[in-house]
Amino acid sequence: KPELDEDYHTFMTWVDEIRKMRVRTNADTPEDSKRALEFGAEGIGLCRTEHMFFGEERIKAIRKMIVSNSLEERKEALEKLLPYQKKDFTEIFRVMKGFPVTIRLLDPPLHEFLPDEPEEIKKVAGELGIRHSEFAEKVRLLREFNPMLGHRGCRLGISYPEITEMQTRAILGAAIELKKEKIKVIPEIMVPLIGTPQEFRSQKLVINNTAADLFEETGESVEYKVGTMIEIPRAALVADQIARDAEFFSFGTNDLTQMTFGYSRDDAAKFLGEYIKEGILQQDPFQVLDTEGVGQLIEMGTRLGRETKPELKVGICGEHGGEPSSVSFCYEHGLDYVSCSPFRVPVARLAAAQATLK
Ligand code: PEP
Ligand code: MG
Repeated sequence: KPELDEDYHTFMTWVDEIRKMRVRTNADTPEDSKRALEFGAEGIGLCRTEHMFFGEERIKAIRKMIVSNSLEERKEALEKLLPYQKKDFTEIFRVMKGFPVTIRLLDPPLHEFLPDEPEEIKKVAGELGIRHSEFAEKVRLLREFNPMLGHRGCRLGISYPEITEMQTRAILGAAIELKKEKIKVIPEIMVPLIGTPQEFRSQKLVINNTAADLFEETGESVEYKVGTMIEIPRAALVADQIARDAEFFSFGTNDLTQMTFGYSRDDAAKFLGEYIKEGILQQDPFQVLDTEGVGQLIEMGTRLGRETKPELKVGICGEHGGEPSSVSFCYEHGLDYVSCSPFRVPVARLAAAQATLK
């Protein structure tokens, strides 16, 4: 943690007096959330939930869910994860003291939770109590040729609504806990990888039905919002339709850059250096927003979304949310907030103030 001296704080007070756009953070632990608050974050714009499944008991439960053969077995495995998830969210909400918190439903392809090495596969099969050959076959079947374009994001929630149900119960259950402590949280539940309004509507229905059940069971209720990532070009193109149901948009510019250029996020480093050296690209588009191409989609998505719903809250939560020229672009195009990693929050605050002055 850097020493933040008095001059820094005085300077940042001036920055915040000028700044109009909000700055949130990407955080998925209480520690990161606390650090981001110290750096001046005004909420969480992206709480990724996938890292929460890696503790010893949790990984076992999600693996059990993945290899289950029936809905009952899957629900049983998810039931084990529910208290862990609820605790995760309760702690984060408590640290964030009523600031908005956007929680994204599970995003990565499920095979990321499974082992790939033969030795490891054998060991895990033993831990799960299933036949080695059966488990190895499941692992094989779940592998994908192009996982970033595969069975991930809302596609998982559509295939396995029970995952969305469990996460919704955990998020809203945590908000109900905090209500008892007189801490008001209005959770924002965010659906990843939406490309069509139908996908969004289908997940929103699962979320709303689960919320209604939970409120009836507990006799308590809390406010919540349901919104979407805009990270597939198609979502920006049909943003007017998606905004009929979505209460907020958050541009996921990591995936949006990947899919707009057609450059794999995981492999582009192999040629981007050369592209920049040869002057084919001026900058790495995964670091500095490509205002010409990806930026047009942000402009279009925001404009179309607000044509349907003028009050639509719009933010950005890709890496670009903490990069000064990208922050400036977001301000110029009317975004309500940027969200970035905790250590980038002060830079984003400053960039937002500079954009206002400009
Ligand atoms: C994105 O795609 O920009 C994003 C924020 O999500 P992730 O990086 O987790 O895919
Ligand atoms: Mg993404």
